[in-house]
Amino acid sequence: PPGLYIVATPIGNLGDLTRRAAEVLSGCAVIACEDTRVTGKLLNHLGIKRPMRRYDDHASEDARDKLLAEMCEKPVALVSDAGTPLISDPGYKLVRTARERGIAVTSLPGPSALVVALTLAGLPTDRFMFAGFLPSKDKARGDALGELAAVPATLVFYETGPRLVDSLEAMARIMPGREIAVARELTKLHEECRTGTAVELAAHYTAHPPKGEIVLLAGPPPAPAAPGEADVDAALRQALETMS
Ligand code: SAM
Repeated sequence: PPGLYIVATPIGNLGDLTRRAAEVLSGCAVIACEDTRVTGKLLNHLGIKRPMRRYDDHASEDARDKLLAEMCEKPVALVSDAGTPLISDPGYKLVRTARERGIAVTSLPGPSALVVALTLAGLPTDRFMFAGFLPSKDKARGDALGELAAVPATLVFYETGPRLVDSLEAMARIMPGREIAVARELTKLHEECRTGTAVELAAHYTAHPPKGEIVLLAGPPPAPAAPGEADVDAALRQALETMS
């Protein structure tokens, strides 16, 4: 049926493409994608031949309108280079406008690096906040971390190799005392998930500059230490002194 189909694709391991994703991609009239070369490779691997159209959130109103008009008549799929569209990837404006115009929108679940990293890191998952990419400039990065420092949840960031150590050093300064995890090359041959303090991980990745794709996670803020026996004694003594 006509409408917009949001289709998640693998983030490394091609075996992670769902059967439903393959069905929708082979049955749709057009595939809107970030980069026709990247999506072309995936389609080639699957033996699927469908017309592709480059689309991102910076596309002109005209280009978006054209896609929206097609969705009223035919099934249109939206994919990104890897993982789930709209998650640090294009699609938000397209979905928003499609919904406003009463076009059927459905989403086919599949891989997203954020969820894979979260399930792998051993950090609390009951509450988490996905914060996308940190700004690349020192001041803006520090401000962003400062804003997030009080959030009582695991924080999840997308990161790049060249910036990882800077981000870890900023975390050590601005949100000390957290458990940190670096999840790298998820679902691929050299998948790695390393945990420690920001200081330890900064030292490790300074010595071994990280290759490939990275998710950076920070556990929730450490709970204030429960008062020990000595603290209680001291407080009692002080209280007694003030009373006498
Ligand atoms: N939409 C994608 C998703 O659902 O995961 C994310 C797109 S975003 C432009 C790309 C970033 O996702 C990378 O810079 C990296 O931080 C993260 N990422 C994607 N694939 C990954 C992988 N296999 N391992 C680790 N991180 C990955």
